[in-house]
Amino acid sequence: MHPYSQDLKQQIRTVRDWPKTGVNFRDITPLLQNPSQFRKLIDLLVHRYQSMHLDAVAAVDARGFIIGAPLAYALGVSFVPVRKSGKLPFSTVKSAYNLEYGQAEVELHTDAFAAGAKVLLIDDLLATGGTLLAGIELIQALGAQVVEAAVLVELSELGGREKLAAAKVPVFGVCAFN
Ligand code: AMP
Repeated sequence: MHPYSQDLKQQIRTVRDWPKTGVNFRDITPLLQNPSQFRKLIDLLVHRYQSMHLDAVAAVDARGFIIGAPLAYALGVSFVPVRKSGKLPFSTVKSAYNLEYGQAEVELHTDAFAAGAKVLLIDDLLATGGTLLAGIELIQALGAQVVEAAVLVELSELGGREKLAAAKVPVFGVCAFN
């Protein structure tokens, strides 16, 4: 575990039964409101990825953007938004998936990556892995390579890490909840 993991985990608030009964929503806004902890998170990720020669950080709509954009800026690489359906204006590829609490579809612009680009995919949280897998599918369909998927929070008991391992994509989780 990273030395910052415990501090960062303490900044995540659990909201019971939101957005529906039975879901423990892991709310990252207290961490974002704390400048020194938010900086710790971005610094930790910069440290991990600065020697991986990435070409792009792709981030999942919308909380992934909050982490992915400062990371791409600090690494000096492209930022690519993986958006919810119907938001991107140019030609797109899309993929549908199931969520812990519902269904959704994500889209990428067809010109998002150069062929063979090395991409880090990032989101706030890994639950069942459906969202990140849909993103991986799109990135690979565009001829780019997902070198790793990174999340601030991993829900360890929902099988997301195993699902991504089956797709041969390693996962980096900053902190975990059962
Ligand atoms: P999944 O596709 O099941 O891995 O779900 C991950 C996506 O859904 C992420 O974009 C999260 O922001 C969101 N999500 C799923 N479950 C939760 C949860 N318990 N707390 C906060 N966000 C969640």
